[in-house]
Amino acid sequence: MAATETFGEIIDGDVFKYYANGCWNKSSSGKSVPIINPSTRKPHFKVQACTREEVDRVMESAKTAQKSWAKTPLWKRAELLHKAAAILKEHKEPIAECLVKEIAKPAKDAVTEVVRSGDLISYCAEEGVRILGEGKFLVSDSFPGNDRTKYCLSSKIPLGVVLAIPPFNYPVNLAVSKIAPALISGNSIVLKPPTQGAVAALHMVHCFHLAGFPQGLISCVTGKGSEIGDFLTMHPGVNCISFTGGDTGIAISKKAGMVPLQMELGGKDACIVLEDADLDLAAANMVKGAFSYSGQRCTAVKVVLVMGSVANTLVKKINDKVAKLTVGLPENDCDVTPVVTESSANFIEGLVMDAKEKGATFCQEYKREGNLIWPLLLDNVRPDMRIAWEEPFGPVLPVIRINSVEEGIHHCNASNFGLQGCVFTKDINKAMLISDAMETGTVQINSAPSRGPDHFPFQGLKDSGIGSQGITNSINMMTKVKTTVINLPAASYTMG
Ligand code: NAP
Repeated sequence: MAATETFGEIIDGDVFKYYANGCWNKSSSGKSVPIINPSTRKPHFKVQACTREEVDRVMESAKTAQKSWAKTPLWKRAELLHKAAAILKEHKEPIAECLVKEIAKPAKDAVTEVVRSGDLISYCAEEGVRILGEGKFLVSDSFPGNDRTKYCLSSKIPLGVVLAIPPFNYPVNLAVSKIAPALISGNSIVLKPPTQGAVAALHMVHCFHLAGFPQGLISCVTGKGSEIGDFLTMHPGVNCISFTGGDTGIAISKKAGMVPLQMELGGKDACIVLEDADLDLAAANMVKGAFSYSGQRCTAVKVVLVMGSVANTLVKKINDKVAKLTVGLPENDCDVTPVVTESSANFIEGLVMDAKEKGATFCQEYKREGNLIWPLLLDNVRPDMRIAWEEPFGPVLPVIRINSVEEGIHHCNASNFGLQGCVFTKDINKAMLISDAMETGTVQINSAPSRGPDHFPFQGLKDSGIGSQGITNSINMMTKVKTTVINLPAASYTMG
């Protein structure tokens, strides 16, 4: 059980409590939601199934707490965030243990996620005091037809209550990437963690509790997204939604009211490999990019587009590295671990079988035990196969052989997604031109796609999202501009 002495108060019997009004609570629903361990496929934890009335109360207290938080000096807000970051890092082990059991994240990566999250919180506090400490001063006579009769002062103010909904694959990191910018900007936060990953998220929230944030400012309501999600996202008390996940985000965008939306959605990151590429470097990046955390990363390499003349060599190099990947339990820190749910494994299998029927070359035998799928490279994939376009979110990498750079760019741009992409070549001019042509938020040159460092801007295009991310952009997204105009009398003092 993950609840150590520090975390004792967040659990009641075998059900984790939800966090509201500065304390840990049992839901009046009397119901709980089981969290299935992906490795054993058996229930491992339970969380409260919160009710609509509980959500209403959380929104009310978030609204009240935000008013005085907005008046709390910026340096004090930063100080509390630094404190929370330190507590979080101090408790990296029990939180990482939850990630291992809930989402089968390899043990070392789980610790890295928590430490990286602490660093993100601290960086955000630093960045916040700089960005929010500045405003603008404008004078009216720079616009045609105006005299110097108006002075304009503008600064950033909070939006109010921010609703944060992260996905299962980084339940701690992608929660704090919303919580920290919201809090430093003077907002309050209501977190709805993913069901798989909720217990790690509750532990993380407890670190904020221990840091001493005001009552009601941070809340964490648990329950299935399919049951309480709509009620949360359409709640009139919400002033901003920051969501990371799959197509659910597109549905939320259509339902949400007139509030700023930060949507970080799926990807089908393409990797274009030219004839002059360093193929050892490309192969190493593709294996890490495609198979780490079993391919369950938004920026995983999800399709390789390689020039035909070097395809055989590249495929062989990738295969040699795939053979060395360890497959098994997250506790043993294996490279490839069980995918998050049985339905996810079934979905991946569906893509693999479709590719088989349509004639893709299987570089390894397809192997699955429960949620554990062995890494698989599919060569000679063609555009009529689903795997050419869909995001498997699993350890399967399709290779499409291309005859020209244009063909690669065309495939990349024909995708509904536009998160990241990458190009391998020794010719920087070609790399820049390809980067310009690829319709994705980010292009990596000679490296696999990846998010971060966390202060880099990060934004998906098309179905990959709206609203820019990265620490600075998130702070800007979670604030609005307040302007005060000083109107001067027409008369002025004469100088001399
Ligand atoms: P998901 O199924 O879309 O779920 C994401 C979150 O939405 C979860 O917390 C889920 O809660 C909640 N949810 C479900 N239904 C909801 C509703 N009707 N209203 C409000 N919230 C609802 O995604 P996932 O499977 O967790 O994550 C994988 C996806 O995330 C992939 O497509 C991946 O590419 C994407 N992703 C994108 C980024 C990025 O930065 N662009 C980063 C990481 C992941 P429950 O768990 O309770 O259902």
